[in-house]
Amino acid sequence: VIAIGQPEHSAVTTCAYCGVGCSFKAEMRGEELIRMVPWKEGQANRGHSCVKGRFAYGYSTHKDRILNPMIREKITDPWREVSWEEALNYTASEFRRLQYQYGRASVGGITSSRCTNEETFLMQKLIRAGFGNNNVDTCARVCHSPTGYGLGQAFGTSAGTQNFDSVEHSDVVVVIGANPTDGHPVFGSRLKKRLRQGAQLIVIDPRRTDLVKSPHIKAAHHLALKPGTNVAVMTALAHVIVTEGLQDEGFIRDRCDWSEFEDWAEFVSEERHSPEATEDYTGVPADEIRRAARLFATGGNGAIYYGLGVTEHSQGSTTVMAIANLAMVTGNIGRPGVGVNPLRGQNNVQGSCDMGSFPHELPGYRHVSDEAARDVFEKMWGVTISSEPGLRIPNMLDAAVEGSFKGLYIQGEDILQSDPDTKHVAAGLAAMECVVVQDLFLNETANYAHVFLPGSTFLEKDGTFTNAERRINRVRKVMTPKNGYADWEVTQNLARAMGLDWEYTHPSEIMDEIAITTPSFAGVNYPYLDQVGSVQWPCNEHFPVGSPIMHVDGFVRGKGKFIRTEYVATDERTGPRFPLLLTTGRILSQYNVGAQTRRTDNVVWHPEDKLEIHPHDAEQRGIHDNDWVKLSSRSGDTTLRATITTRVSPGVVYTTFHHPTTQANVITTDYSDWATNCPEYKVTAVQISPSNGP
Ligand code: SF4
Repeated sequence: VIAIGQPEHSAVTTCAYCGVGCSFKAEMRGEELIRMVPWKEGQANRGHSCVKGRFAYGYSTHKDRILNPMIREKITDPWREVSWEEALNYTASEFRRLQYQYGRASVGGITSSRCTNEETFLMQKLIRAGFGNNNVDTCARVCHSPTGYGLGQAFGTSAGTQNFDSVEHSDVVVVIGANPTDGHPVFGSRLKKRLRQGAQLIVIDPRRTDLVKSPHIKAAHHLALKPGTNVAVMTALAHVIVTEGLQDEGFIRDRCDWSEFEDWAEFVSEERHSPEATEDYTGVPADEIRRAARLFATGGNGAIYYGLGVTEHSQGSTTVMAIANLAMVTGNIGRPGVGVNPLRGQNNVQGSCDMGSFPHELPGYRHVSDEAARDVFEKMWGVTISSEPGLRIPNMLDAAVEGSFKGLYIQGEDILQSDPDTKHVAAGLAAMECVVVQDLFLNETANYAHVFLPGSTFLEKDGTFTNAERRINRVRKVMTPKNGYADWEVTQNLARAMGLDWEYTHPSEIMDEIAITTPSFAGVNYPYLDQVGSVQWPCNEHFPVGSPIMHVDGFVRGKGKFIRTEYVATDERTGPRFPLLLTTGRILSQYNVGAQTRRTDNVVWHPEDKLEIHPHDAEQRGIHDNDWVKLSSRSGDTTLRATITTRVSPGVVYTTFHHPTTQANVITTDYSDWATNCPEYKVTAVQISPSNGP
């Protein structure tokens, strides 16, 4: 007799929501998950968890899951359930037809940051070895691609510098464009603990987040900048440090390129970058910037944590480089308590980038033009890899509208909801002849699909996720895939249908191939992960037990690179028609576009997205708390309820984007980061007016 609540079997696995990567023991009774128990030995969470990882797993057995493959010749036709064999053969023959008819570059794929490293590796392998082009991209395009570019330029590698434990040694913490209390709750709790112990906090954010002021926590400085002015504020902070002689000259001479530093110091010292010269357009009082800069430069170990409020801007990459400059000029790199720490959004966005999901990079961030790197994969796979970068997601959509891009394989990603300019995404998808969506549910993108391949959850597969601190954590299968196959098996079967001789019998064999081909993963294998719990890359002959902190003795690129960060105002301007600026964020109980969390009991905590409006702006428009309002921009309009609050400044409005009815990306613009095309989600000129409801 089994007592109520008593598990029959269990396995330690990794949460599939945010980039903290918490470990849980998944307790099962037969094929039913009865409990997720935070795992005390989990090195990212040490027994802690949040309401998403702990409770929001019901989507895995939700009735909306699609368990059988489906095909339709035209997107106006009804779906027809078919066998796996028919679905994969149809997909393979369609992709081959398209390439024969329109050329090798007419098809591509999008990897998922929700899937495992092994699945992502196989997706890019299918595209590079099977499709014969580099048309592979990932959802990092719309979130942390500027992190990859900016940190790669400054330090030589596209990842955060620290482990989460590091925050326990911080004396001053800058949080810019992030709300870890809601977005990365378990790390947020560790940060709050350190703040309660006396560390000082500087928040740079248009909105008064919980970190600015909550019980027992009060930020020393809240730089409530106008959306879109991150670069100006970061450069003004650097101006104060350099012109007041607060730089760490020993560190700079020892670790950085001195002539580049001198050039950069001359640039930031210009009067036009001073807090006084910039306060008009940043909205941050000069005195506040001066005091914050002095605190960061002289307050001991200084750490910087940032999120999508940095990257999702037309100057996202520039802001990342400005953050790197600030860390280097104050000597805050290469030891516990310091560093540059991107708070990655999705569970495996770090891993999807590591695994070669970008059209210009092979696994391990090696450019496709690197002959030696290509040679490794060509010998292993027996193919020739193109030395030309492929298309990014927005370029694929543009090419589809123009008529040259015809087929797309999308794994675990809802680009119609998550990518900018919804109308353009829809037009691009509608113009293609074969769109294949692999997902748990019929998502919005599936409205434009010709083939639907059922996806599997993290509970149904083995593999690894890599969290925001580069920690490679094991994912362990606790239930049989409800659709018959784990995602890596579906990709393998499609590859076979296209004529490739893949014979993986377990994801551990894929990891072995990753280790052979990718130097930063050379020491990673399943027996080692099972033995030590998890490991942070690079893990190889130079770092046999992994690398909790990077750039300890020297930067990966050699000398740290100071880069001029010229502020360029976004083209998205307010004016009489659209006088307010909209910015967006997340809430604790929900996750991204809500595809999973809305299908769990967590939805009761956040049944709808609301628009935060300052009392002054609300009064001017006759809007009261909980009223329906119409939110309009140059791109489109939507309707949602208002919350009147001083969390936002006058002139700024804010919403979350967890419910499809909010249609946040109908409102946002098509401006994007100059280096990576990451969309500028965080700055949209809008108007609001009373409404009777949707
Ligand atoms: Fe999952 Fe992130 Fe919550 Fe941890 S903090 S339980 S990884 S959602």
